[in-house]
Amino acid sequence: MPTPDEGLIPPGRATGRAGAQTNTAPAGGGTDLADLVAKLTLHEKVLLLTGADSWSTQGADLLGLRPMIMSDGPAGARGVTLDEREPSTSLPCPSALGATWDPALINELAAALGAEARAKGIDVLLGPTINLMRSPLGGRGFECFAEDPVLTARIAVSYVRGLQSAGVAATVKHFVCNDSETQRWSYDARVAEQVLRELYLMPFEACVKEADAALVMAAYNMVNGTPMTENARMLKGVLKGEWAFGGVITSDWHAARSTTATALATLDLSMPGPDGPWGERLAQAVADGIVTEDVLDDKIIRLLGLARRVGALDRFGADAAPAYRAAQTDRVRGVDPALLRRATAASFVLLRNQNDVLPLRADTMSRLAVLGPGAIRPTIQGGGSAVVAPSAVSTPAEALTARLPGLNESAGVTVAEGCQIWSTVPAPPAGSLRDPVTGQPGVHLEFVAADGTVLRTEHRAATTLAWWDGVPPGIGWGESGSIVMHATFLPDWSGLHVIGAAGVGHLTITASGEVVADLATAVPHDPVEAMTRPGQVRAGLELQKGREVALKVTFRPAADGEGPLGMRLGIERAVDDETALVAAVAAARDADAAIVVVGSAELTESEGFDRTSLRLPGRQDELVSRVAAVNQRTIVVVNSGMPALMPWANEVAAIIQAWLPGQAMGEALADVLFGDAEPGGRLPVTLPAAEADCPVLDTSPDKGGVLEYREDLLIGYRGYDANGIKPLFPFGHGLGYTSWDYELVGALTADYRPGQDLAVRVVVRNVGSRHGREVIQAYLARPPGEPGRPVRVLAAFGIASAAPGQRSEVVLRIPARLFARWDIRQGRWTWPALPSTVQIGPSSRDLPLSLPVPAT
Ligand code: BGC
Repeated sequence: MPTPDEGLIPPGRATGRAGAQTNTAPAGGGTDLADLVAKLTLHEKVLLLTGADSWSTQGADLLGLRPMIMSDGPAGARGVTLDEREPSTSLPCPSALGATWDPALINELAAALGAEARAKGIDVLLGPTINLMRSPLGGRGFECFAEDPVLTARIAVSYVRGLQSAGVAATVKHFVCNDSETQRWSYDARVAEQVLRELYLMPFEACVKEADAALVMAAYNMVNGTPMTENARMLKGVLKGEWAFGGVITSDWHAARSTTATALATLDLSMPGPDGPWGERLAQAVADGIVTEDVLDDKIIRLLGLARRVGALDRFGADAAPAYRAAQTDRVRGVDPALLRRATAASFVLLRNQNDVLPLRADTMSRLAVLGPGAIRPTIQGGGSAVVAPSAVSTPAEALTARLPGLNESAGVTVAEGCQIWSTVPAPPAGSLRDPVTGQPGVHLEFVAADGTVLRTEHRAATTLAWWDGVPPGIGWGESGSIVMHATFLPDWSGLHVIGAAGVGHLTITASGEVVADLATAVPHDPVEAMTRPGQVRAGLELQKGREVALKVTFRPAADGEGPLGMRLGIERAVDDETALVAAVAAARDADAAIVVVGSAELTESEGFDRTSLRLPGRQDELVSRVAAVNQRTIVVVNSGMPALMPWANEVAAIIQAWLPGQAMGEALADVLFGDAEPGGRLPVTLPAAEADCPVLDTSPDKGGVLEYREDLLIGYRGYDANGIKPLFPFGHGLGYTSWDYELVGALTADYRPGQDLAVRVVVRNVGSRHGREVIQAYLARPPGEPGRPVRVLAAFGIASAAPGQRSEVVLRIPARLFARWDIRQGRWTWPALPSTVQIGPSSRDLPLSLPVPAT
């Protein structure tokens, strides 16, 4: 009989005892970790189990333990501040990484990310996010790899391995079913056990068993009635028990909300600190005999195991971490730009390419129109904790303006925005603001105490600012001090401008000494919104091109605010959309081809809230249709992390799904449009023709806070297939610049028996005219007629590449687990005696080859 855990473990690994390193091996000085724990008093133990601040754990001189530094990911290593003075490489968002279907590339990229994180002094990266894209409205869908657990698991395992190969600990999050944001702090996901096992837990299980993930983050939400930080059945039973997870379970930030239930459920670390539900209250629970001290000791051993793993037990002195960080800063190198650009192009999915309009031929072009809000101000990353301050951003307008004349000297590029989609007034153009004190580009900040004393001043290049820690005393939430921003603005245009100041609290905007706006904004429901979408006050100002205006924004944080402190200044021309649309259409009419970059605005996709619609914001649909009506070579680039409706899909020549692609967007797009790189991506999520077609859409819990996962196993393509609905573009779809014949599939496993992996060999041939790369997908289909079971599920995939006319052979290994089902009664995996078929092809809806697998 097969054993339950075989399926997810790669050949050559005997057990799934990942993380067993924490318990027994000697520490840095040859000491056993248990001996170190024995040196601690109860008070010292509880101190270690809560963070020291927003991003550090506590150190302990006695043990030679320095604080460990944590930083958000997963689309970059932000560091402990969100600060343009310490920039971070902005990677393609995780849905883009999922779209590569390329574990080797993800491994390489994550290793480079790990090296950058390490150089920044980061020990623990809070990523990757391995929840599933259950509803396309989910605000953090862009932060997930896929709607499918197998694709998620394969990409996640590579990400974790790559990151950890650089010496940075990965944190897989958010355990589990944090698949949407509405009432994210409290919703109760009601999910059948079989569904948990077969879908939502699978990526976590793979990362623990195969990738030795160092940390797991317990989510805010409840699952089946119990908050995840208190969910003993899931944390102690499944994660640490069944899967033998030996690492650290950290809470999501402020997710630990009880003392004993969390401690007994085996949560190991409460973040952030120094406050929280543990501390002396936990010591008291031990004194009262409610929690035994060995429960605490196990947590400390795990924490020390992590410390040893990241090198935090090798150093002495509680203040070693900041020193370490500072020492490393001048050596920080971002991710290699060539790798970043290659990975970005590899994530772009070519959805449609009528008459091979792409790649463009520069030699036959005289004018290219580059249009749309995303051409000028693309949304390169999703909102929330995943945001980084990028070192530089390559926009489509800049990159294409530089590239086309470079390829064909007589060609020119026209750029037009077409319409505006922002909801928070965007930052003014680079170079338009001057710090009135230093004269440098940027703004001057003053931290001012209630009595008017200026406590600190700073020059900042950015006008979107956030602080978790580190503002002077008297300035934060509930204090009466304020942050004052001074800037001199030089308009490059005459006319009405909108000035916006944002922050949670009281805001006053002064222009040329005159107060033009003075209002308090509302305290948001979710503290993260104090940073991601703080309320804004606005004023309209008539300004003259070339005539400077002195601006001052005074921000006094709200008495009852929470979360990171955020402040912004935005300035934008007040342009009416119709004028902008007409200008874009005129540019398109005169061009050989029109590239229209449409998509999410900065606040469309974010942590903290779900989307309310899949429609593109503003008048972007109209922009595409009007451009397509005048230019037959209209190529739409969709700049969104998750599906957007494309009502114009049949009107345009080509569509590229470009995700939220990070800082290399423009260059990578130029590479793909002009054929220097293939658009390598395949859809990790189904694109619907209409909202009503989505198997799961609504993410609102009911009045009692319950979110029923009624669809059971039928999320994503599984739902479309089972419901007989044709998507606009199916899961797995994506075109390259060549074409392929699927010639042959054969089994490599002789006498296949249930409970074994099944290896299949697939041969494809490049029948196009250029070298290409193809993602070969294998799905496992069972005989129809079982209600609630998917028609087919992704089982394995691999990459073929070949020159024109050449064949490529790929071996795909389907893990035994994928033939199994979770048997609720027996509480284990079982292998039903059913025949199945392995279906092979380039997408979940295009499967030209098949191989029967008999029931034995
Ligand atoms: C998010 C986590 C994140 C943490 C720290 C939470 O609100 O859910 O993903 O790592 O904040 O920023």
